Amino acid sequence: MNAELQIPLFDLEYGPEESQAVQRVLDSKWLTMGEETIAFEKEFAAYIGVKHAFAVANCTAALHLANLACDVGPGDEVICPSLSFVATSNSILYTGAKPVFADICSLDEWTISPEDIESKVSERTKAIIVMHYAGYPCRMSQINAIARRHNLKVIEDCAHAPGASLDGKMAGALGDVSCFSFFSNKNMSTGEGGMICTDNDSIAERLRLLRSHGMTSLTLDRHKGHSFSYDVVALGYNYRIDEIHSALGRAQLCRLAQGNRRRKEVTLHYSVILREIDGVTLPFQSSTASASYHIFPVLLREGIDRLKVMTHLRSQGIQTSIHYPLIHTFSLYSAGGAASALPFSEVVGRSELTLPLFPSLTLEQIECVALGLSDAVRQAGNGAIA
Ligand SMILES: *Cc1c(COP(=O)(O)O)cnc(C)c1O
Repeated sequence: MNAELQIPLFDLEYGPEESQAVQRVLDSKWLTMGEETIAFEKEFAAYIGVKHAFAVANCTAALHLANLACDVGPGDEVICPSLSFVATSNSILYTGAKPVFADICSLDEWTISPEDIESKVSERTKAIIVMHYAGYPCRMSQINAIARRHNLKVIEDCAHAPGASLDGKMAGALGDVSCFSFFSNKNMSTGEGGMICTDNDSIAERLRLLRSHGMTSLTLDRHKGHSFSYDVVALGYNYRIDEIHSALGRAQLCRLAQGNRRRKEVTLHYSVILREIDGVTLPFQSSTASASYHIFPVLLREGIDRLKVMTHLRSQGIQTSIHYPLIHTFSLYSAGGAASALPFSEVVGRSELTLPLFPSLTLEQIECVALGLSDAVRQAGNGAIA
């Protein structure tokens, strides 16, 4: 039972560049919102292809600011997926608005359904938050068309999607404002950290203010003598990032493309061998977009005991996870009364299993996971077949 974890769900890609980045900041003796942050924002904006990027404390803070900058507030509704991390919809609750959950497209395409979004638009709807699940871009041309028809803003939760693209545009440049996470287990890891991107100048101005207490000048400006005092013109927050995280982010951005290429190879290799396993199906088989392969999800046949599968794999030293328990089923969210049915999300919520995926996962490890899964599914499925 206490077998050592031989194959973790995720492993960091750190090298001497990350150590040097941290040392560079320590040597500079300037720890927050300085030259590293400015450079990180510039480099990230150029990579995504947007005019403005603001580095923040984490993606949850980014999502909160994105909602505020889109004028979401009490009495408003925001449509979002239930198949996501709870931060996606918590960010809506922070503003006093109400999340309205839409289903995913199908059991193959686990991103938010444009048709279901359209059916849930009301006169209170202010915005749509999409989430590029596992790094597969949502159906953005349809979603943007719905948003234009109903005068809604589109917020991209890009926590899974740095480096993904659709029709030649990067995820993060596909809506009105986008939010990235650099949490430890994401494609770019800085521990904590996030980024908000937009091409919209007035949204950018709001974001700049709200990130740091609604103040009209930054400590750095005052330090450099550009400014000696400040006014406070909006109720802002302290959602700032610090220089160490920004420096780590710059080093991680340099590794991103290479890491995503490896993730793709791992995904393709898994796909070839897992296709043979009875009781396991793979989503996104019809996707043609360029994904960022953040996680490797599979769907177990209904009746296979997921917990048994996870326990069996754990005993083999293989770590697995669930992405995600559905948000609308959490106590905080279900207390309000009957949520509408989300049939595809509910199947995925019950039967999804996430296998280890990270750039340095070896061929032998992939085969070991596949073999373990095959055994586990056979054992866990026996009761269901009888
Ligand atoms: C990780 C994650 C977040 C939250 O990111 P933090 O940086 O930890 O706040 C939000 N949405 C999704 C889909 C995520 O996976």
